[in-house]
Amino acid sequence: MFNKYGNRGNKNKARFEFIIRERGWDWAKEAIDKEYQSILSEGGIAMPDSVPEGFGGFQAVPPPLGTGELLPVIGSAGLDPEYERWLETNVREQKQTGYSVVTVRVSNGNLTGNQMRGLADISERAGDQLLRFTLDQDVMLGFVPLRNLKRVYAALKQLNLHAFGAHEIRDVVTCPGAYSCNLALTKTMNLGEALEHTVSDYEDTRVKRLTIRASGCPNSCGQHWIGDIGFYGNARKIGGKEVPYYQMLLGGGQDEAGMTRFGMAVQSLPAKLAPTAVRRVLDHYIANRADGETFREYVLRHKIETFRAMTADLAKPAELAPEMYRDWGDEEDFSLKLGRGECAA
Ligand code: SF4
Repeated sequence: MFNKYGNRGNKNKARFEFIIRERGWDWAKEAIDKEYQSILSEGGIAMPDSVPEGFGGFQAVPPPLGTGELLPVIGSAGLDPEYERWLETNVREQKQTGYSVVTVRVSNGNLTGNQMRGLADISERAGDQLLRFTLDQDVMLGFVPLRNLKRVYAALKQLNLHAFGAHEIRDVVTCPGAYSCNLALTKTMNLGEALEHTVSDYEDTRVKRLTIRASGCPNSCGQHWIGDIGFYGNARKIGGKEVPYYQMLLGGGQDEAGMTRFGMAVQSLPAKLAPTAVRRVLDHYIANRADGETFREYVLRHKIETFRAMTADLAKPAELAPEMYRDWGDEEDFSLKLGRGECAA
């Protein structure tokens, strides 16, 4: 529909809402119905047999693969106790024999220029010259020869990008929040860091498989609706002063049938107490889950009321300690004043 009727000449009007504004809702509804019927009867746009050259960066003839030989040899990764953990969580063997995909865990999705140049260099020397940025805010290096994993790990360590725990609960996803977004209420990246710290000492395998996602406002750039545990920023006025809060959601993500489900809203909590709430939920989960039960099933079985009761004292603390008036990472009291920003979703 947008392809046919949308405005691709003006970025400010390149959205479906402008078609509806110009042509009216009745027209849009009728046109959508007509289009849907035609898809049902004619099968819609035919899928191409092969991926077109250049589509999503696809190249029919892949660039030459790096051998890894030119990477610096520093220290001995084999003696690093974290190397084994990194192999276990950040490396997957590819179906192409002898190659692996390395996931580089990027805390809060933040990379320095030096780190970006370093990653490009590693990908060129030991991969397929491509960097793939994932929805989990990590970077993937493909076609890394298995025999060179130690060198790649050592090179990543030089860049301080060797953290293990990719795809685990500690790999928290957050939007940039109030650091660069004009719509943000809270500094989500700092919450992400605090949560990462909170969950890092859980060794329980099923806890490690969970996901945490947070956004700085009800928009969902941090994908909070589809995390096992989600948060989005809001604010409350207590005693005439603004306090940063987060709404906590539980049970989002894929269900047992592979269908993506939204999490259920549990409780709005002062930002500083969100990690305490996460700890209570995880401890309760470990103690009360049933065999083979997914986190979502556990949440549904215990019902939202259980989690509301579990965190009720945190939602409205009898007395707010002075630090509750501050967001994570802030030196001054929280306020809703608008800062300069580059993103407005
Ligand atoms: S608009 Fe998006 S980036 Fe900005 S705070 Fe909200 S969720 Fe985060």
